[in-house]
Amino acid sequence: MQTTFSLAQLADPHVAEAEKILRKCVHCGFCTATCPTYVTLGNELDSPRGRIYLIKDMLENGRPADEEIVTHVDRCLSCLSCMTTCPSGVHYMHLVDHARAHIEQTYRRPFIDRAIRAVLAQVLPYPARFRTALRLAALGRPFAGLFRRVKALKPLAAMLVMAPRAVPAASAVSKPATHGASAPKRGRVALLTGCAQSVLDPAINEATVRLLTRLGVEVVVPEGEGCCGALVHHMGREEAALAAARTNVDAWTREIERGGLDAIVITASGCGTTIKDYGFMLRLDPAYAGKAARVSALAKDVTEYLAAIDLPEPSLAPGLSVAYHSACSMQHGQKITRQPKDLLKRAGFDVREPKEGHLCCGSAGTYNILQPDIAAKLRSRKVSNIEATGAALVATGNIGCMTQISGGTAMSVVHTVELLDWAWGGPRPEGLPATL
Ligand code: SF4
Ligand code: SF4
Repeated sequence: MQTTFSLAQLADPHVAEAEKILRKCVHCGFCTATCPTYVTLGNELDSPRGRIYLIKDMLENGRPADEEIVTHVDRCLSCLSCMTTCPSGVHYMHLVDHARAHIEQTYRRPFIDRAIRAVLAQVLPYPARFRTALRLAALGRPFAGLFRRVKALKPLAAMLVMAPRAVPAASAVSKPATHGASAPKRGRVALLTGCAQSVLDPAINEATVRLLTRLGVEVVVPEGEGCCGALVHHMGREEAALAAARTNVDAWTREIERGGLDAIVITASGCGTTIKDYGFMLRLDPAYAGKAARVSALAKDVTEYLAAIDLPEPSLAPGLSVAYHSACSMQHGQKITRQPKDLLKRAGFDVREPKEGHLCCGSAGTYNILQPDIAAKLRSRKVSNIEATGAALVATGNIGCMTQISGGTAMSVVHTVELLDWAWGGPRPEGLPATL
């Protein structure tokens, strides 16, 4: 794609990066066919190509974001399906991340939208605040139907409906500690315990620690670790995202220097995509660029890590059929497609792959709160495809997808690592009914 940025504009490294990406796009439109919002809404401006044109126009003309571009960029899930499809290697993720930051800096959203985004940014990344908010949601739940009738308040209704009725107690695994290997030691990893996941489903990290330590891997939960920053990053709050990244880079660098790390293990693929991008996000910060690149290189999804070590024979063959849902951040963001399925098969599960596996379930961080109507359509489509597999349960590697999918089906939805822990000697996942 031809671009006409001035030399002065290109002096800004963010604009220069955007230009490099834009020039790779050859307008072929292959990406439109696999874009969930284009498939759902049928509007070219809600396709990757359409958004690329809008972003190019905004940046080239050096103008602030307007309502049109905000509407179409907000509708983008950042699912990155377009990046998997694109034959020209257009790095849509970095382009849309930059566009979101530009929107945040130059566009004043309506009051309620601003207020809801501020609450999300101030609550979700902090486990104590998030736990309190979930408990308070019980008081607001009776008003969800009322809120749903007012367009601007739909996100509030979505939040209330999605909040679980029972909030699990905080897990000891979320606290800084070193969990020693219970078999001959063969590795040492840091575990990102995360923010929302550690509140919504602490059993995921508990299963991870049990499984890894049983396999001879020492697991460290470092002091000072926090939210990966993905939630605010996707809202265009660049400074907050970079601050979160620096905090984690510091925590993990201390741990690398103290005892060495073979990997930084992540159990939520949405976080994994962002941490693997820390090197890029902090490239312009001389104090952090090198350390961030080292952290990104060490970041591994738990299934990626497990697939690379020798595993003994599983101690149990559950023989259940599992519909494996590959989160977008897993398959498109990190290109991890084979490992989770291979591990589940090795563990004795009959793995079934739902049709249209490339399409997002509508979760996408805070998307199902901020764009509840599109998210609901995508969830129905996803759930129909999952249920059509006839599998007994659903496994996936991202808490956002777990929450989204379980809101639309009676099937049990568990994290992949909970099934792996079970097969390799751990307890049966709590989320599985005894009838299975
Ligand atoms: S990231 Fe997903 S929703 Fe956004 S343009 Fe690409 S395919 Fe479409
Ligand atoms: S597939 Fe790639 S090159 Fe083709 S229009 Fe989409 S982003 Fe551009």
